[in-house]
Parts: sequence; C-alpha cells; structure tokens
Amino acid sequence: MEAGVDLYEYQARDVFEKHGVPVLRGITAVTPEEAGAAAAELGTPVVVVKAQVKTGGRGKAGGVKIAKSPAEAQQKAAEILGLDIKGHIVKTVMVAEGADIAEEYYFSLLLDRANRSYLAMCSKEGGMEIEQLAVERPEALARIPVDPTVGIDQAKADEIVAAAGFEGDDAVEIARVLQLLGNVYESEDATLVEVNPLVKTGDGKIVALDGKVSLDANADFRHPDHADLADKSAEDPLEAAAKAKGLNYVKLDGSVGIIGNGAGLVMSTLDVVAYAGEEFEGSPKPANFLDIGGGASAEVMANGLEIIIGDEQVKSVFVNVFGGITACDAVANGIVQAFELLAAKDEHVDVPLVVRLDGNNADLGRQILTEAKLPGLEQVDTMDGAARRAAELAAG
Ligand code: GDP
Ligand code: MN
Repeated sequence: MEAGVDLYEYQARDVFEKHGVPVLRGITAVTPEEAGAAAAELGTPVVVVKAQVKTGGRGKAGGVKIAKSPAEAQQKAAEILGLDIKGHIVKTVMVAEGADIAEEYYFSLLLDRANRSYLAMCSKEGGMEIEQLAVERPEALARIPVDPTVGIDQAKADEIVAAAGFEGDDAVEIARVLQLLGNVYESEDATLVEVNPLVKTGDGKIVALDGKVSLDANADFRHPDHADLADKSAEDPLEAAAKAKGLNYVKLDGSVGIIGNGAGLVMSTLDVVAYAGEEFEGSPKPANFLDIGGGASAEVMANGLEIIIGDEQVKSVFVNVFGGITACDAVANGIVQAFELLAAKDEHVDVPLVVRLDGNNADLGRQILTEAKLPGLEQVDTMDGAARRAAELAAG
C-alpha cells in the first residue's frame, strides 16, 4: 500500500482534457505579472483567477476571483498569491477562461473499499461543499454503485443521471461526460475523480469547471508520466526520505510509530493499535505506516527506525514482525545492529520501543533481544499485548 497523489486543479484539468472531458482553457502563473499575461493570452472578456492548493473551499476563502481585464487579473493574482488557505500557502494560480454559469452540478466517482466497488455520486445541486449537502439534503445526492469490471458505460451513465434527476438534452450530454470521466478514472488508475461544479453554461454546454483527481500510487508502474505530477515540495520530508531509501512509509496523525514486515501485517497492526489506544488518555493512534518488507536487514531496520524517530509526534514505537523467509533471529540482529548504526551516527532511539516477534525462529530472536539489553526496548509476545503496551507508553 502506498499513498496516492492528489492532483492540483490545473493538473486535473489537463488530465480531463486529455480524455476529451469538456473543460475551459487555463494557464498557470506564479507571479501577478504572469497572471496578467496569461489573461491577455486567453483573450476572453472574463477570466477567473484560481488559487492552486490541494484543499477545497477556495472560493469561500477568497481564492477564486473574477477579472475583466489582464490588469485586473494581475491585481487579483496579487491578492491571491501568498494567501493562506486552510494552512496551504498559495504559490501558483490558474488563470482560466470565465464561464457563463447557468447551473452548477456535482459528480464524483470513487473507490468504495468496503464494498469492493466504485461509487458514483451525482447531484443537481453542485458548487457548495458536498459534505454539507450530504448531511442537509441527502435525498438530493444520488449514490450509485459502479461495477469496477464494467465502469461507467452508457447504461450506467443513464442510470446515474436519471437518479440525479436530469432530463432531456441535459441528461444525454451529462451521460456522455460521465462516461468520459469514467474513462479518466479507469485509464489513469484514479481512486477519486470529482467535479464540483460540473456546470451548464448559458448556451447549454456541460463543462467540468473544477476537478479533483487522486491517483493510485500502486499503479505508478503503469504510468511513467504520473511521476511528473507528484508535488515534491508539498511532500512530507520524511515520506520523501523514506522513498529515497526504498521504504514504504506513510505519515499518519497519531503518536505510535509502527514498523512491520509486509503490508498486510502492517495494516492489521494499524487497526489493533487504534483499538488498543482507545483505553488510554488521549486515545493514542498510529503515527505512520512503515512496511520494511520481507528483507528486514539491519540496514533496512536502521533506516526504518531513523525515519520513525525523525517524526516528532512519535512517542513510542511498535515493531511487529512475523518471521518468514527472513527469520526472527535475523530481524532481532537487525534491530541490535540498527541501534549500533544509529548510535554511530549520534542519533539515538530516545522513545520506548515495543517489539513483538513471532513466526520462524521467534524464540531465538527474543533471546537475542533479551541478551542485548537495548535501552528502552521491551518485548511482548502477543500482537494485542504489544499494541496495548505501545499505546500505553505513547499515552504516558
Ligand atoms: P472551490 O471553492 O475550491 O471548490 O473552487 P471552484 O473552482 O469550485 O469555484 C468556486 C465557485 O466559484 C464555483 O462554484 C463558481 O460558483 C465560482 N466560479 C468558478 N469559476 C467560475 C467562472 O468561470 N465563472 C463564474 N461566473 N463563476 C465561477
Ligand atoms: Mn469546487
């Protein structure tokens, strides 16, 4: 499992265009002067200057402004660049052709993991925050499961638009656009494609005015072009460091650092730690997802520990290893040597470590750790017990 990449609106716009989804022209700018030049290049009587930040609600926060001349576009860009929108500083704007909006709709297609399906959501009431609509007027938001092996074909698109209440020419054109958005989802290996608003213009055209796309990083090998879409500057520095060392690391919000071997084990460890944490003060939660894979050599373990202790939110670490091809004694030696490697770099493990070894050569591995008497390291033999202890240490 790897974290996905959320695209900026301008990148989503480009991806939509590539797949034939109707969009308006847009040009990015990083200075007010560039924004003015972009407006002149577009040459339309109205342009919209839009903050490029990976968060919603830009409009409300003053990050979307209409301008009626290049000079005005430059001025609006000067207002928007540098804005702090929910903790995201605006470094880039997109200057887009202005749309003559008659109506605003909503559409999204996302991965519904629990039901092993895709889920399409569509509403005639777009523009506003969809979470609000879902709470206040759930009947206005059609929710239609989409079979991943079929995707959005003509029949499914017709079903979605009918459920949302579209009729006549609008229904026909929107169904066409939804199929194209389904193609985007499918062929780019997305986990989310959202258009809010999908608009009808004064002359009856359907246009995707604001797009949000999340790509599935597990499918990156199929998309060499996706590497260019990742935003290096916005990436968590620890995630970047982990990637550089070939580790599968995802930063989460909690305080219990987790190292495990194998994605399945690490994922169930996240659940067990979250559950165990509920018992303690502040309900400690997992701080990360770190899969050291099958190898678990001393170097890999040292790299993993180095990443985890680099996260200031981490208050305890749970190392959960099920010995297989790499047996527990090798992992235990890896942990001992990892402490030595880190000490040699003058980086010490200054948070308590709870280790659970099970599987191949577990007894031998446990013995190695017992004899090594590493400072702050405790062993607990069961996964539940170790999770509970790690959560307790993070809480206290
Ligand atoms: P968000 O607030 O981050 O979702 O940004 P959007 O791109 O969705 O823009 C917010 C709102 O600004 C939209 O719902 C529209 O009402 C308005 N808006 C955006 N682009 C245009 C445009 O080209 N013309 C007009 N008239 N309004 C726009
Ligand atoms: Mn929007």
